[in-house]
Amino acid sequence: MAILLGCIADDFTGATDLCNTLVKGGMRAVQLIGVPARGTPVPDADVVTIALKSRTCPVQQAVDQSLDALAWLRNAGATQILFKYCSTFDSTPEGNIGPVADALMEALGADLAVVCPAFPETGRTIYHGHLFVGEKLLSDTHMRHHPLTPMTESNLVLAMAAQTKKRVGLVPYAAVDAGSDAIADRFAALRKAGVSYAVTDAVADRHLLHLGEAMHGHRLITGGSGIALGLPENFRRAGKLEARDAAALPAIDGYEAVLAGSCSAATLEQIDHMAETHPAKKLDPFALADGYATDLALDWAKEHLGKSPVLIYASAPADDVAEAQKVLGRDRAGTLIEDAMAAIAKGLVKAGVRRLVVAGGETSGAVVKALGVTGLAIGPQIDPGVPACVTLGDKQLALALKSGNFGAEDFLTKAFSQMPGERKRP
Ligand code: ADP
Repeated sequence: MAILLGCIADDFTGATDLCNTLVKGGMRAVQLIGVPARGTPVPDADVVTIALKSRTCPVQQAVDQSLDALAWLRNAGATQILFKYCSTFDSTPEGNIGPVADALMEALGADLAVVCPAFPETGRTIYHGHLFVGEKLLSDTHMRHHPLTPMTESNLVLAMAAQTKKRVGLVPYAAVDAGSDAIADRFAALRKAGVSYAVTDAVADRHLLHLGEAMHGHRLITGGSGIALGLPENFRRAGKLEARDAAALPAIDGYEAVLAGSCSAATLEQIDHMAETHPAKKLDPFALADGYATDLALDWAKEHLGKSPVLIYASAPADDVAEAQKVLGRDRAGTLIEDAMAAIAKGLVKAGVRRLVVAGGETSGAVVKALGVTGLAIGPQIDPGVPACVTLGDKQLALALKSGNFGAEDFLTKAFSQMPGERKRP
């Protein structure tokens, strides 16, 4: 089995978001968590995205992991590689976007790669090489003060040039708006001028579609989820993509549960909404510090399983979080809760839960690790950026994993309706 497109994502939720975009475009997508061991069978999919945690790790580690991922994807048959980073170009002058892109480009023998984090649907647009978030330049947003990757440069040509020794150029708005032929002409001119990276303007989805067509055959593409918008059509036109429901997932029956560890405003609202009509239990970080609370929460959940989806949450308003962090320490509070969520997830699955929703990026990471999940088949979208998934391998689980701020108010219960299969009754 050979895949068509191989993607390397620098974080977990970004990988899911990218897969979601490709599935909507008609490509069957699988997300693998980390680089699989040698000999791991290639999943039956059109695209595989390997999710790394390489956005803010040391540069060399990011490069090594990305090259390992590349080797696996090429071995799986991928002829085009997409390096996916955040739509706000999260990086420092040291990297990791530039060094990873350089290493991939050299390994692939590519001579030109697009650099395009634009995602107009979420307000990320590029004009005259400058990245905007909504109406503001990137450097005028909260990203300026990001603790790990402060973005003080909105000009992507300069931001990329600071991270690579290769030359960086621009495909300006006029070419991108005129269509794929004009873009291809510009690519040719840039190549001739010795440019290796082409930052591309894009302010609307049609620009991403034009770019997609013009990037046909490019060995390496770099960008946010948006740059994937125009890629499925290339494979379809080449007769490589079968016409079928790319979002189809196997039906998974079992008890239903929700675990929430995100304290973002959206998740807090979603918890209130679900708790109005469903059994809900709050985990207290202080009780977790004393032990027992995990077992108590599991015992409580078992009483309700099957009657209705159950909700267990640690999420709390900012004041309560600050208090817990003051007393327990910031890292310890987070770890206590993540460990508890991981243990509860394992206990729930042992008790027959097969349909699970998790809120929070770190929380999802902890749960997926505890459950030994190595990969996910990506299904239909629940809300923008968040699809329903089914785990690979035996003992399959239906999962929805969302980063804190995603999803509408009814997300936590609506998610189950996008998972094929049924809730088991007691
Ligand atoms: P998000 O996607 O919103 O960033 P995460 O799961 O990534 O959510 O991060 C939330 C962090 O907050 C986790 O480490 C979690 O353990 C921690 N946390 C959750 N509830 C509390 C709480 N009541 N007090 C302190 N920390 C908490």
